[in-house]
Amino acid sequence: MSFTVVLVGRPNVGKSTLFNRLAGKKLALVDDTPGVTRDWRSAPGWVGGLSFTVVDTAGLEDVTDDSMEARMRRQTEMALERADVALFIIDARAGVTPLDRHFASILRKSKTPVLLVANKSEGKASKSGLYESYELGLGDPIPLSAEHGEGMADLVEALLPYAPKEDDEAEVDAVAVEASDEGPVPIGDQPETEADRSKPIQIAIVGRPNVGKSTLLNSLVGEERVLTGPEAGMTRDAISVDWQWRDRRFKLVDTAGMRRRARVDEKVEKLAVADTLRVIRMANVVMLVVDAEAILDKQDLNIARMVISEGRSLVIVVNKWDIVEDRAMALRQVEDKLEAALGYIKGVKVVTISALKGHKLDTLLDAVVDTYTVWNRRIPTSQLNRWIEGVLDHHPPPLIEGRRVKIRYVTQVKSRPPTFALFVNKPLELPESYQRYLTGHLRDSFDLPGVPLRLLLRKGK
Ligand code: GDP
Ligand code: GDP
Repeated sequence: MSFTVVLVGRPNVGKSTLFNRLAGKKLALVDDTPGVTRDWRSAPGWVGGLSFTVVDTAGLEDVTDDSMEARMRRQTEMALERADVALFIIDARAGVTPLDRHFASILRKSKTPVLLVANKSEGKASKSGLYESYELGLGDPIPLSAEHGEGMADLVEALLPYAPKEDDEAEVDAVAVEASDEGPVPIGDQPETEADRSKPIQIAIVGRPNVGKSTLLNSLVGEERVLTGPEAGMTRDAISVDWQWRDRRFKLVDTAGMRRRARVDEKVEKLAVADTLRVIRMANVVMLVVDAEAILDKQDLNIARMVISEGRSLVIVVNKWDIVEDRAMALRQVEDKLEAALGYIKGVKVVTISALKGHKLDTLLDAVVDTYTVWNRRIPTSQLNRWIEGVLDHHPPPLIEGRRVKIRYVTQVKSRPPTFALFVNKPLELPESYQRYLTGHLRDSFDLPGVPLRLLLRKGK
């Protein structure tokens, strides 16, 4: 379970800078195509062992003649609706401006919790702005410098109460470690139960309009009952589709939403993003359908990132393969784009199919089952600790001010997606780059391709 943090505030306060810092530079580069009007951006965020989805509202405004304030209001309200917590950012150097006050008045009425962030707080010039910001009535400001990366530990502290408990099991584990010296009862040592296998795999089919989602669904279930066609969606809004393939059961989530999205025109497409997110959250495996003729554009990649940051497993379905002329080139394109945009998650399955002709549907379902299996994988603690010992021998964490953060041990606390608790003496001091290194190494060592992996830092003596 991930949570969503949205960045709001007037232009120029540093939302994008903070977004980049939380999401990692690489992602931002991919997104920032010059000259392209940005809609909102969403990416997996990561700071001090907390992982979440970060949403940046910069540039969300519609191209209309509305006043700035009206646009801001709309953008803010939309963003708040889908967030668990909002960071309201002001520029401490500029002090509180009328537009900030306007924002604050909207935010004070919102049901979503709001944390006030005083950005650009490096140096003395920010002091008066910091004090001024108390008048906004949103509690104590968190001083931060997004540009210089200062104040991130305070930000983590402030966000912590809104992070979901990793699930009760995991919480108990962590407490147990402190209370006794016996260590947690790791999920990794429990075998997969029969019940796991008999449960249907919840699938979502997502993608832009016209890529062939409905056609795919029909081919998969082998009946013309769900369908496109003029009267589709008018009456049967809550169809649940179940089917079986080999010894596995599948359940498609939210076919109604799927049809709705297939009919939206360009103008309302932005709103469909919220819909997509909702569907993703219901699924175990998400089939992201892309059109072989227009492979993995920006919007496709945004959806892919959403799937990952929501902790779901992802299969990329390149549809309409029947009409592709240069298949080698098309495949290379997919691989390059995936590497550039999702390089941090190695091994995402890409399946080329023709939904219309029913080609390669078995390969697709195989990929779904494989990915689902990895997503459910449990790794025994003994293996994990042998692994971490090896890593520490060959590539220990870097020294920080002459001291080394000590990693004590690691255990899997959850599957779906595989989630590991790493016990360290100073969780906030383990560099992000090193956390990413560990995650990548873990993925390779235990053969965990194509699914999100989570590493939780826990304080342990
Ligand atoms: P946005 O419009 O809210 O997304 O703001 P940007 O992230 O584009 O930042 C606006 C300007 O403020 C840019 O020139 C940034 O380099 C600068 N900026 C962002 N964060 C900081 C900070 O922590 N300190 C200082 N001094 N400047 C910052
Ligand atoms: P949706 O909006 O994503 O649900 O897309 P549809 O399933 O309605 O398909 C959009 C169009 O693409 C329809 O005209 C389909 O016949 C066509 N289409 C779907 N799959 C394929 C395919 O595998 N090959 C070809 N050539 N056309 C396809």
